[in-house]
Amino acid sequence: MPLLDSVPIAALPLERFEPVIGGGAFHRLLERFARARDLLGGHAMWHVNSTSRGGGVAEMLVSLLAYGRGAGIDERWEVIEGNEAFFSVTKRIHNNLHGAAGDGLPLDDEAREVYESVTLAAGEELAERIVPGDIVLLHDPQTVGMIPVLKRLGVPVVWRCHVGIDAPSSHTRAAWAFLRGYVRQADAYIFSRRQYVWEDLDPDRTVLIAPAIDIFSPKNQVLSDGQVDGILSAAGLQEGSRTFAVEPSFLRMDTSPGRVERRAEADERRRLRPDDVVVLQISRWDRLKDPIGVIDGFVRHILPRSEAHLLYAGPSVDAISDDPEGKEVLEEARGRFAAFPGEVQERLHLVTLPMVDVEENAAIVNALQRRAQVVVQKSIAEGFGLTVAEAMWKERPVVASRIGGIQDQIEDGRSGKLVGAQDLAAYGRAVVDLLTEPALAAQMGARARFRVRDAFLGTRSLLQYIALFERLVL
Ligand code: UDP
Repeated sequence: MPLLDSVPIAALPLERFEPVIGGGAFHRLLERFARARDLLGGHAMWHVNSTSRGGGVAEMLVSLLAYGRGAGIDERWEVIEGNEAFFSVTKRIHNNLHGAAGDGLPLDDEAREVYESVTLAAGEELAERIVPGDIVLLHDPQTVGMIPVLKRLGVPVVWRCHVGIDAPSSHTRAAWAFLRGYVRQADAYIFSRRQYVWEDLDPDRTVLIAPAIDIFSPKNQVLSDGQVDGILSAAGLQEGSRTFAVEPSFLRMDTSPGRVERRAEADERRRLRPDDVVVLQISRWDRLKDPIGVIDGFVRHILPRSEAHLLYAGPSVDAISDDPEGKEVLEEARGRFAAFPGEVQERLHLVTLPMVDVEENAAIVNALQRRAQVVVQKSIAEGFGLTVAEAMWKERPVVASRIGGIQDQIEDGRSGKLVGAQDLAAYGRAVVDLLTEPALAAQMGARARFRVRDAFLGTRSLLQYIALFERLVL
């Protein structure tokens, strides 16, 4: 059984950035790409991660690699297909890196055996396809164990760590200790922020690159109010619509029963109505995204002081093979929902989104983010939080936890609001303030878009990657 699965990569034109970043910056970008192409001399740039859909890393790779390919770079993308035992170890590593105990089991010799049984074999598999001159970029803990195998080939190997924590715990240090021996063999390691850099790594090989969003992706492209309503009603999330002026391409999605999976029938109270006020969180079903806190905070502090509805959307759990906890966390959220009386349930919407068609999923996420009056991201830990930048680009006022990369995105009180990650009352207050002061919300939303344009566009991170590869190849 092959352990690596190739993911197709589209080719996207860089030209679309010219009006956003201006002619001068655009020409410098083209020059840098031309130079990178010359340096690579037709060789491939390999990327490996653990999933091609769902979650921020896949989201970024889809765009980044497509722009690279559009600029003539031979980008390749492989996904590591582990087994259940492997993904429960890597989920433990992921939780530990975020400072949490996870399943509480240790990262011991047995865990290493499970881990290496996949990573070493995946490394060998990739090694057969790599030729001298190629470059390898591995993403996240699932791929770290491939480094020693690939380094034997003498090609540059870079590791990109997408997770991080502001203050490491003993669990974090245990995960570092487990992975450090592999990581040190890489030619460079990339972290999203200075605070995330591990102890005892070579500072000369350490590089900082903040994540970015693709403002032209289906998830972020402009939608009219009519399109938003049309997509949400086609997806079964909203009743009727005000205008229903939907472009046919957005209705390519199959909306037959079961395709757009909503909360369990038993949970069903009613769909959103077009004039409902919506508070939204979109996240994987992960305790670090705090679905219970989002629901409880809403019920205690927002519901009694507004007419708002909470819509919490996450991916269909069947689709996510690298996240064994997803199902469990969704069940916990459903359990919490079921415990509330009917009139409260009417204001809560737990939604699982189909992940079969990436564009369909993106259209629904886009529509939900534009539909919401306030977007929240009340995570307990967050490497970056692409959902924050996505909502900010759409001029939404965002209320989010003062943790991790969220702090780099939102300037508190200016381009959004930051609240203590455990402070349900502050979260509730901030949301209610924005709901009751639409002018403030609109101003914050407008500033949020500028913030993303200035700091979190894909062109910035593409340039940073090019600079790193030039350094490694020269
Ligand atoms: N996402 C999605 N469908 C979902 C839930 C999330 O497409 O049902 C996307 C979301 O829009 C964002 C990414 O997955 O682009 C999540 O990235 P983020 O950095 O916020 O969190 P991560 O999942 O990487 O921890």
